[in-house]
Amino acid sequence: MPVKKKIKLKKKFKLLLLIIILGVGATIIGFKIYNNHMFKQTIDYELQKIGYEKETIDLIKTKLKDENIEKIKNNDKIDYIKDIIKEKYYLDKHFDDYLTFYENNSKKSFKDIVTLVNIGATKGFYEDTKETDTSLKEAILVNKYNTLPKDYNPGNIKKFSSTYAYGEVSAEENCYNAFIQMAKSAKKDGITLILTSGYRSYEKQKKIYDDMKKQKGQEHADKYAARPGSSEHETGLSLDILTYNALTETFKETETYAWLHEHAHEYGFIERYEEGKEYITGYSAESWHYRYIGEELAKKVKEEGITYEEYFAFYVQNE
Ligand SMILES: [Zn+2]
Repeated sequence: MPVKKKIKLKKKFKLLLLIIILGVGATIIGFKIYNNHMFKQTIDYELQKIGYEKETIDLIKTKLKDENIEKIKNNDKIDYIKDIIKEKYYLDKHFDDYLTFYENNSKKSFKDIVTLVNIGATKGFYEDTKETDTSLKEAILVNKYNTLPKDYNPGNIKKFSSTYAYGEVSAEENCYNAFIQMAKSAKKDGITLILTSGYRSYEKQKKIYDDMKKQKGQEHADKYAARPGSSEHETGLSLDILTYNALTETFKETETYAWLHEHAHEYGFIERYEEGKEYITGYSAESWHYRYIGEELAKKVKEEGITYEEYFAFYVQNE
């Protein structure tokens, strides 16, 4: 090939290379500008602008519905938002309530803020009561803010024989059968379960409460008895389980309690009022009070390790 032609080709090649480089460069810059433009239209950008860090932004995007993200976008930075959202039992439907409750109770832990809002106990016991959903049957929730109607029908009530109970104790059929099965298993392990209380009608609970109120005043009555409609015993699904010569005060130290603690859930029962949970359940710790909720549910509640109020709000009611 002649030298001149070779040089010409080289020049052409250089020109082509330059064009390619410029083209690629322009594309990259253009892409960056475009990307930047698009980013500015994202939630990330808007939240960053308000002052939220990446971790919080990711939480907001994964746990909040659009309408609540909108609220955050339209407000100044809420410093504690991350602490609320990252709670295990955060429920987005309560977003506004969490914020309001926290603003008025900023000394409470974020866990308690979420818990109390979830279970609907922000106003205290007997203050903001609603009629409980009786269609849930064994999963029903009864406490000092979810109450039973006067005419609640607990279903078929059966009376325990003296093999299982001191005095007159009865329970709803399924609860009755489950207890007998449990008592038989316990017996095989050398444990005797004795019932001291079971189903109480609304009228009976009313009498217990009214008598105590008359004798010792309302404060005392509210501390030691439940107002009618708010005792689980009215469901026919609660049993007070003790053993021979056991005192309620020391029951927790007995091997009977230890057996129940390990096995009750296998028969559908859960210990209902545990120590340290009084602000949730509304009841002092009662290591002898068990509630029948069915095997499947009892296993789940036990595994989760939370009160039935908390479990109910997050899993049952939220289904
Ligand atoms: Zn009880």
